[in-house]
Amino acid sequence: MKRPESIVVLGQRFTVHWEPYDAGLLNEPDKAGRTDLMQQVMHIRQGAGFHQTRETVLHELIHVCLNLVSSREHDEELVAGLAPVLLELLRRDGQLMDWLREPDE
Ligand SMILES: [Zn+2]
Repeated sequence: MKRPESIVVLGQRFTVHWEPYDAGLLNEPDKAGRTDLMQQVMHIRQGAGFHQTRETVLHELIHVCLNLVSSREHDEELVAGLAPVLLELLRRDGQLMDWLREPDE
């Protein structure tokens, strides 16, 4: 499946920039992703495994969602903890995903 080039969250389109591993755009060497909320650009470092990359995109999406609902600074520990839990849930429970994706009545 093709990796996302943009992701729409509540009508706001975030462009995904797939950054080379050594691009230096992520500032910190161990950082896998960063989202510029003002520019609506998500920078995702390439070179990690598929599972890790998905988790990074979900991690950045949680930041986007939290920013939409609250102006408070995000709890990085909460975001880091939520991403793998949500990814596991979304991947494992196909019935739940089908039900959530049902068209409105
Ligand atoms: Zn984060």
